[in-house]
Amino acid sequence: MKKVFVAFLALIALFVFVTPTLASTYLANTKSGKFHFSDCRTIKHPNAAHFVPYESRDACIADGYVPCGVCNP
Ligand SMILES: [Zn+2]
Repeated sequence: MKKVFVAFLALIALFVFVTPTLASTYLANTKSGKFHFSDCRTIKHPNAAHFVPYESRDACIADGYVPCGVCNP
């Protein structure tokens, strides 16, 4: 039983470690015209249709997005 628990903890640790690296660094809001760090506290539904993932800040600005005032990307 103890082995199962350790395996479970290892799985969670792996999940926590891997997840941020899979997420895009920036999310642009096509409704507001602003872009955010993907972990910005103002983003409640990062998978919503109006959020577009970006890998770089320059790409957001090149597409006309303005940096969010809360997370200051
Ligand atoms: Zn933000």
